[in-house]
Amino acid sequence: MKQEIERYLSKNQHTALNIKAAFFDMDGVLFNSMPYHAEAWKRTMNAHNIPFELHDAYICEGRTGASVINEMFLKHKGRMATEEEIQLMYKEKSDCFNSISKVERIPDILPLLETLKADGVDIYIVTGSGQESLLDRLNKWFPDIFSKEKMVTAFDVKKGKPDPEPYLIALAKSGVKPNEAFVVENAPLGVRSSVAAGLFTFAVNTGILTTEELECEINDSGIVLKDMKAVREYYLKELRVEN
Ligand code: MG
Repeated sequence: MKQEIERYLSKNQHTALNIKAAFFDMDGVLFNSMPYHAEAWKRTMNAHNIPFELHDAYICEGRTGASVINEMFLKHKGRMATEEEIQLMYKEKSDCFNSISKVERIPDILPLLETLKADGVDIYIVTGSGQESLLDRLNKWFPDIFSKEKMVTAFDVKKGKPDPEPYLIALAKSGVKPNEAFVVENAPLGVRSSVAAGLFTFAVNTGILTTEELECEINDSGIVLKDMKAVREYYLKELRVEN
């Protein structure tokens, strides 16, 4: 058994991982949307004379727009943003994102999802996104993989990541125990949420973070891998339940 699985089992007092469900984050895991979110945040912040680098957006991923804006205001202006400032800047950021973004799948994500589906693993999406048309977009790019009942979105949660709440809701919806599921995440705060929910977590570095920036959130509950191909290989070798 792999060391990281042993560490996870001993930390969480389970005897085995017996995978029945898989929980997927969306931005940076299913879709390569983070470069566009990061660019849109950078342009919006800079237009308001707030220093902001692309890397900052990757570190903040998972927070609400209002929380990102407030954090930057506190850091650079010494005060919180007003409600008007938050609404204005969030609209500017969203408009910018919509004007520059292209929809692209993350490389090698589809074979991973198809393998899990063929094995009868229940596939859930756990995202902070609250777009009304989410399911249509998922069905277009991932036909027959996701369904309305197997989604946790902004509409389901009060706290959102990095709180464990979204993954705890996924556990409740799927009816599996923590040692019967795994998570695929790309953001430090998403990993923190998943680990806090007691789940074995793949932190896949699909963006510009350093490995250390993801590794420091794992806390004996998973592994950092470089791409989705590596996740599929790991699943096949270490986690697949032989029937
Ligand atoms: Mg993400």
